[in-house]
Amino acid sequence: MTAQLINGLALAHRLRATMRERAEKLSQAGYRAGLAVVLVGDDPASAVYVRNKLRACEECGVGSQSYILPGYATEGEVLDLIDRLNADDSVHGILVQLPLPPHINVRRVIESIDVCKDVDGFHLYNVGALVLGQSVFPPCTPYGVQLLLETTGIEVAGKNAVVVGASNIVGKPMALMLLQKEATVSICHVRTRDLAQFTILADILIVAAGKPGLITGPMVKQGAVVIDVGINRLPNGNIVGDVDFESVRERAAWLTPVPGGVGPMTVTMLIENTLRSAERVAGLAVT
Ligand code: NAD
Repeated sequence: MTAQLINGLALAHRLRATMRERAEKLSQAGYRAGLAVVLVGDDPASAVYVRNKLRACEECGVGSQSYILPGYATEGEVLDLIDRLNADDSVHGILVQLPLPPHINVRRVIESIDVCKDVDGFHLYNVGALVLGQSVFPPCTPYGVQLLLETTGIEVAGKNAVVVGASNIVGKPMALMLLQKEATVSICHVRTRDLAQFTILADILIVAAGKPGLITGPMVKQGAVVIDVGINRLPNGNIVGDVDFESVRERAAWLTPVPGGVGPMTVTMLIENTLRSAERVAGLAVT
C-alpha cells in the first residue's frame, strides 16, 4: 500500500478563500476582524511564526497589529499591554507568541487575556470548555488536524486513535477532540514504555513529539491514517516531521507530508478563530 497524501496547503488555501468572503461580510456589517500579536524578545523562530501569522491575516482580509517588546520587558509591561488590547474594540483576537522569556509567568499572561479574545484557546476557561466539548476557540494545531482528518472521509467514531505527545498545545487538546468525536483514545509520551505496542493498534495516529524518525513503518497499522505534526530542522537545514516518511508511506492509507501538511492549517485556524470572534461581536456567529 502507498499512502495517499493529505494536502494541508491546498486545504488551507481553500479555507482562506472562504475566510476572505467572511471578512468581506463582516466589513459590510461595519466590522473589520482584527488580530493582535504580542512578541516578547528576539527569538528568530518566533519572529518567523509571527510574520507568517500577519501575512495570513493580510491574505484573508483580517486586520493585524503586532506588538514587539524587548526581551527584558517586565511581566507588568506585558500584562498592561494585554489590558489595553482587551479593552480595544478593534481587536477580536489576542495571541501571545510562546515561548516567553523565563522571567515572565506564562500562565499569568495567558489568564489575563479576555476569554472572548483568546483565539489560541490556551486560557483555562477555553481549555475547560474543550474538556466539556463546548469549545468556541479550539487550539489551532489540533483544530487543523481535525479538518485534515475530515478530508479523508474516514469516520472517527469507534476508531482507535493514538496521540504521541502530550503537550498542552497539541497532544492533550488533540486527544480531547478525538474523544469528543467518539474515538477510543490513547495518549503516549516520553515515559511510555514500548511505544510501538500502542501505535500498531492505531487506526488514526497523530504524532506530535518533536523527534525526527520516531515513527517507522513497522510501528504503523496497515491502512492507518497518519498525521505528522512534528516540525524538526535537521543539521543539513531540511525540515522533517516525526514520521519516517518513506517507510510509513508503504503502510498507511493516508499520510500528511512535512512541510505542507499540518503547518499551513495551524495558521489558517488562527484566522478562523479570529473571524469567529469578530462574528460573535457582530452578531453574525453561529457559536
Ligand atoms: P513539546 O516538546 O511541548 O511536547 C512533546 C511531547 O512529546 C511531550 O509530551 C513528550 O513527552 C513527547 N515525547 C517526546 N519524545 C517522545 C518519545 N520519544 N516518545 C513518545 N513521546 C515523546 O512539543 P509540542 O509543542 O507539542 O510540539 C511537538 C512537535 O510538533 C514539535 O516538533 C513542534 O515543532 C511541532 N509543532 C508543529 C505545529 C504545526 O503547526 N505543524 C504546531 C505546534 C507544534
